[in-house]
Amino acid sequence: MNQPKDSILQTSLYNFELAAKRLNLDQAIYERILGPKEKIEININPALPDGTVVNIRAFVVRHNDALGPAKGGIRMTPDVSLDDVTGLAMEMTWKTSLIGVPFGGGKSAIRFEPASLSPDAKEVIIRSFTRGAKRHIGPEIYIPAPDMGTNETDMAHIRDCIAYSDGTSITKGCFVTGKPVILGGIVGRREATGKGVVYTVLALCERLGLDIRRMRVAVQGFGNVGSVAAAEIAKCGAKVVAVADLSGTTLNPDGLDIEALWQHLLQTGGVRGFKKAADIEREKIFEVDCDILIPAAAGSQITIKNVNDIKASIIAEAANAPTTPQADEILHQRGTLVIPDILCNAGGVFVSYLEYTQETQREQMTLAQVERRLSDRIQQRFNEVYDFAKQKRLTMREAAMDTAVSKVAEALFARGLLP
Ligand code: NAD
Repeated sequence: MNQPKDSILQTSLYNFELAAKRLNLDQAIYERILGPKEKIEININPALPDGTVVNIRAFVVRHNDALGPAKGGIRMTPDVSLDDVTGLAMEMTWKTSLIGVPFGGGKSAIRFEPASLSPDAKEVIIRSFTRGAKRHIGPEIYIPAPDMGTNETDMAHIRDCIAYSDGTSITKGCFVTGKPVILGGIVGRREATGKGVVYTVLALCERLGLDIRRMRVAVQGFGNVGSVAAAEIAKCGAKVVAVADLSGTTLNPDGLDIEALWQHLLQTGGVRGFKKAADIEREKIFEVDCDILIPAAAGSQITIKNVNDIKASIIAEAANAPTTPQADEILHQRGTLVIPDILCNAGGVFVSYLEYTQETQREQMTLAQVERRLSDRIQQRFNEVYDFAKQKRLTMREAAMDTAVSKVAEALFARGLLP
């Protein structure tokens, strides 16, 4: 096997190839699952409200649909590539399979910096993307959701754009998930990924006999996922000693006030300069003295360059593919426990599934119902993965991957192998 490089796609391919070897996958099935089923590159040229015409590349990848239509978020960042989207779509195939929802894996991306856009300009780009990609988006094809750089407002605009595209039905776009509640969205979706991350950490602490109230936590990323994970784990009694975002890292060994930090972020745009803590360099988050590290920012963050600085004995992968294979191997050798991304951050796609089902019933679940189902499902899947790993002497990543990949293979066999 080639030495893996530090990219999301290389990490996804590497993990899949190892699982395929362990499972002794037949070559035809291996190639079928390797995919991806479809890779689309789109050029859009919207005119922004100030009159500027921009040229933007966008991507849609359907990796696998053996278990159902492709499901995965829309990312909006200036540096995203088709390879990244392919790797992320592959991750979604494993995640939906592992968490047990009737979807396959997909992902899409718009290559643009969202922070530089006014709300009106962002809406123009999102609608332009939706029109350009419409043939590749739909309840039976690809079901979008928010991801880095997109949010529920963007999902509302996608839903609206699809609903009015042929002027016949205002419900046509309701399959889009992560929408505002007023448009058929589900309560608790925004918090679902971060809460799911914390449920996996609590489940691991329970299995290890660790008291969460004695744990010191460092979180990289203070966006949708990282901010909720930090707030939730602090509510459970853990001490969040450091938080990093693009602006830098804020550190207080006595514990950060997460609500006050959030207010600081709303006022200043970043965690840097938070009065009740010290500023350190952004990358120093990996050197912070802590028990649990939650990477909740981007892919390929824990690498051969910083892995030896990490003090935490537990890593909860809230981001997708945050750990490169070489770093993962070092973590394994020295006994650091890694809760793999396809399990750790699957809460978001699970609640997206609940949103999808409630739309078909035209009803609204309560927050208590959503949280109960989320917590039950995450705990159940965590325990299955943990037990399987123990029984087969695998890491949690290996156990999660083997479970996910074998279910996809089983579905392909069950369907029959003709295209
Ligand atoms: P977001 O855009 O809301 O937040 C990203 C955060 O990471 C921001 O605080 C940003 O400043 C920070 N960041 C980015 N690069 C950084 C770096 N190099 N160092 C420090 N901080 C950095 O995105 P999000 O929705 O919270 O997603 C975060 C991660 O979680 C992504 O990998 C995403 O794919 C994954 N994820 C998100 C969801 C979801 O429901 N939003 C679900 C599953 C997985």
